Amino acid sequence: MNFSQQLSLIKTLVPSGEVDTRMDCPFCNGTNTLTIKRENADLLWYCFHASCTAKGNHEGEMTMEQVYETVVTKEKEKEKDFVMPKSFVSIFSTDKCTDYLKKNHCMESYIKGKAEIKYDVKQHRAVFIIKEKEKVKGAIGRGLNSEVYPKWFMYGSKSYPFICGNSDIAVLVEDCASACAVSEVYTGVALMGTSLPDSYIPVLKKKFKKVIVALDRDATTKAFDISNQLRYYMNTEVKILQDDLKYFDKPQIERLFQ
Ligand SMILES: [Zn+2]
Repeated sequence: MNFSQQLSLIKTLVPSGEVDTRMDCPFCNGTNTLTIKRENADLLWYCFHASCTAKGNHEGEMTMEQVYETVVTKEKEKEKDFVMPKSFVSIFSTDKCTDYLKKNHCMESYIKGKAEIKYDVKQHRAVFIIKEKEKVKGAIGRGLNSEVYPKWFMYGSKSYPFICGNSDIAVLVEDCASACAVSEVYTGVALMGTSLPDSYIPVLKKKFKKVIVALDRDATTKAFDISNQLRYYMNTEVKILQDDLKYFDKPQIERLFQ
């Protein structure tokens, strides 16, 4: 029998999923001479009988989960450490920066040490530092006047979200300022848009027991899409907002989520 004939026969002998078994060989009728193993997507078989040629290694199609794991692992390996530019200085270097942070309810989280925020002299931005535990992964900067384009700028890798807060309930919001504002009540996670990057899913899965997707009214459909993506892994809820959370203080946010 040629390879593909063997393969189709082998497939009928074992169930799907992980397999590691030994059985009578249908090719040579040897007793308990055939081993079949399925690892990840690979199907391997081999007969120990001296005169039997049954042997093969079939690389099957990977499941979505396997594809995802492979891609994410490779991405992670590619990622270099983020080096904070010299142009990142204290937020107190300019009133423009502190004014923005106060107005958008970020100052509390900065003072309490929940968020690391800098001022980028070169780009004239308030910069939110993305950290995984203590490791700096990148940064996201908000232009401090209308001439700074784009309004939001991503420094370094985009694969890890800006997270602010210590609650095991996450609120997914559109930007870093809203993530800081909501951190007074829950943990804020900034999407930097209205869709959920795939690389954020394992992070959310690991850190939170519940996720509330809190987006603007015009992003209602997107909010439900995100919630559908996450519901396989954790409790999810959608909260449609009339306005960005960054415009609210702690009591207002508490009321909103009651
Ligand atoms: Zn055999």
